Amino acid sequence: MGVSKMHPAEAVAEAAVAGVTLFGENRVQEFEAKHDRLRQLGVSDAEVHLIGHLQSNKSVRAAEIFSGIDSVDSLRLAERLNEAANKVRTKLPVLLEIKLSAEPTKTGLPPDSAELRSLLERLPNLEHVAMHGLMTIAPLGENPAAARACFRELRELRDTLAHEYPQLDFRELSMGMSGDFEIAIEEGSTLVRIGTALFGERPTTR
Ligand SMILES: *Cc1c(COP(=O)(O)O)cnc(C)c1O
Repeated sequence: MGVSKMHPAEAVAEAAVAGVTLFGENRVQEFEAKHDRLRQLGVSDAEVHLIGHLQSNKSVRAAEIFSGIDSVDSLRLAERLNEAANKVRTKLPVLLEIKLSAEPTKTGLPPDSAELRSLLERLPNLEHVAMHGLMTIAPLGENPAAARACFRELRELRDTLAHEYPQLDFRELSMGMSGDFEIAIEEGSTLVRIGTALFGERPTTR
């Protein structure tokens, strides 16, 4: 996945021509404008997933403009997305974001939480969302060993959950960014999210 947040639609179009087929954006509002510009630039078949925290009041718009939501971090959000996807007549692919590091600002469902369990029980009834696996963000700026431990923990959680919920689909493990994707792949990542290493440093203002 090419993570194009903060980069202009032109950069996305260029990457699409070079063969990138899946992009990641972290804010609904930012992508709304880019979405129209991409159409003008003739990019209509690239998939764009939301990888940042989604407020549930933006669920309908998110279900309209994104082809997947990789950052589902609560039961309530999953339910809102189910209603939203029903409204806009899509079946929305989602990943569940798992919080494995202790940084207080980080979003995601704790792996041992009752809420994660409730969500997994509820998913078969949410017929407009299709859950395909798990996503996590490793602790930023820490050593490679900490990143590896985090990725391994996500893979082991996936193995446990796949065993406990054989009716659910856990094929995707979204983990690894520009600074740690090699380690993530070694630990079983199926989807690395690469921003800086593909697009260069993010502009701080636009
Ligand atoms: C920004 C971002 C990335 C990409 O980070 P880089 O270090 O630039 O590759 C990946 N995942 C998420 C969730 C992000 O917000």
